Amino acid sequence: MKDCPSCEALLPSVAQVCPACGHQLEKKEKKDEPIVHLQLLTPTQVRELIDKPGLIKQKVQLVKSKQIRVRDVLHQMSNREEAIEFIRQMGYKRGWLFHNAKHYKCFQS
Ligand SMILES: [Zn+2]
Repeated sequence: MKDCPSCEALLPSVAQVCPACGHQLEKKEKKDEPIVHLQLLTPTQVRELIDKPGLIKQKVQLVKSKQIRVRDVLHQMSNREEAIEFIRQMGYKRGWLFHNAKHYKCFQS
């Protein structure tokens, strides 16, 4: 059970709207949710972002918010320096590169 923050009615803990006053109850945020909330991008916008060079920070955020995968980004990259910076910002260790570099063209140049 929980209290409605608006009218203090006692509600079942799964309630999303208070039946007494109509207050929208927020879901409790999970701890592992990303701190940075990207504005919601359409699949086309996501695609365009991946295709553009640079924008490493945005790409990292997209991966961390699970909108794209690391390999989606790396397969679109042709610049080794950028790819390494991306991996660094993802927080991957040197060992990651050692094991995975061979799968991506961007690391072969
Ligand atoms: Zn209420």
